[in-house]
Amino acid sequence: MTPQLLTRYADILAAVERVDATAYARTRNYTDGAVSYLSPYISRGVISLPYVRERVLSRYSRQQAYTFIFELAWREYFQRQWYQLGDQLWSDIKAPQQGAVHHGVPDALQQGTTGITAIDTAIQQLYTTGYMHNHVRMYIASIACNIARAHWTQPARWLYYHLADHDLASNTLSWQWVAGTFSSKKYYCDQSNINKYCHIQQRGTFLDVPYEYLPDLAIPQILKAHSVPGLHTILPDIPAPQFRYDKPLLIYNACHLDPLWRADMDANRVLLLEPEHYRQYPVSPHVLSFILRLAENIPGIQLFCGSIEDLLRTGNFPQVYTRQHPTTLHYPGIKDQPEWLFPQVTAVPGSFMSYWKKCEKYL
Ligand SMILES: Cc1cc2nc3c(=O)[nH]c(=O)nc-3n(C[C@H](O)[C@H](O)[C@H](O)COP(=O)(O)OP(=O)(O)OC[C@H]3O[C@@H](n4cnc5c(N)ncnc54)[C@H](O)[C@@H]3O)c2cc1C
Repeated sequence: MTPQLLTRYADILAAVERVDATAYARTRNYTDGAVSYLSPYISRGVISLPYVRERVLSRYSRQQAYTFIFELAWREYFQRQWYQLGDQLWSDIKAPQQGAVHHGVPDALQQGTTGITAIDTAIQQLYTTGYMHNHVRMYIASIACNIARAHWTQPARWLYYHLADHDLASNTLSWQWVAGTFSSKKYYCDQSNINKYCHIQQRGTFLDVPYEYLPDLAIPQILKAHSVPGLHTILPDIPAPQFRYDKPLLIYNACHLDPLWRADMDANRVLLLEPEHYRQYPVSPHVLSFILRLAENIPGIQLFCGSIEDLLRTGNFPQVYTRQHPTTLHYPGIKDQPEWLFPQVTAVPGSFMSYWKKCEKYL
């Protein structure tokens, strides 16, 4: 299935109602499995994890929805880690990456020409849709970091740029998990694993070797050429918004685009895109246009491209509101609490399974 990016709020809510929790549990690892395709809307803050859980539990028992909620908890675990680790996310967390020999991205991955058909097709699909299945993300991260021996940072940046669901915590920590810097061992996949989960029968590729040989494989010729991709965000050049300085200011950003947030309030609404953030963590034109289309679900919202300081210098608002998130820590004003799946579990242990054991009590 080719996933379609939805931008109308009603269509997004309808997609939540289509989650098939029982088929999900059986098939989620297969590239044509019954995955939800909801991450672009969860990551952009259009819908929350508890909302998705409650809607799914309105149609399935807890037992039937167990696997789906378990996966939702991965996202929450990474978000909690982001709060805890802060800028440490950008360095090797538990141990330095063993065996890394360069800080580039294999050209064959960037061009989708690795010769592994399922990978190459998924890369082309990423460029056109902004979506990639979780298993393929793991395969690509493993090829980049553990077979081509790139340090995880630049490949993670490249993938993040193209993902509609780009999320600094889920992306960075997943790359680190595969590269063995946020886990106890590196993740490897061989061709038979790819064949099984992508329903193909390919042979003779650089991954078509016995699994136990993979850690010692010499870098395959096709993966040797590498470069640092030039990734830039092109922010829109738009006139300054017209504000009413007798009304409060509600600040949204690309991780906080919930149309229902403070919907009854008579206020100025602004989507803030900070150039410094996008210089550090660029996103593609396709992804930026997705963000702008999602913002159209918020009545009266205006766009401001500048720093938070620039925004507040335009005039004096009686109050400023936003939602608490790692990307809003430097905003002033009142910060509404994030919506957690498991608000009771605030301490984040080093492993997801220890975290999940704590959460499970509150299922
Ligand atoms: C290298 C790599 C990079 C990744 N980068 C991102 C990223 O930038 N943004 C992002 O949201 N996810 C990222 N993920 C996690 C995961 O791949 C996606 O959340 C998932 O594929 C989204 O598709 P879906 O909505 O159809 O998921 P489903 O399988 O339908 O899962 C439902 C929801 O559960 C959550 N979820 C499921 N699996 C994971 C997971 N492994 N980690 C975190 N949350 C999960 C997501 O919110 C998802 O929408 C990455 C994984 C890897 C291996």
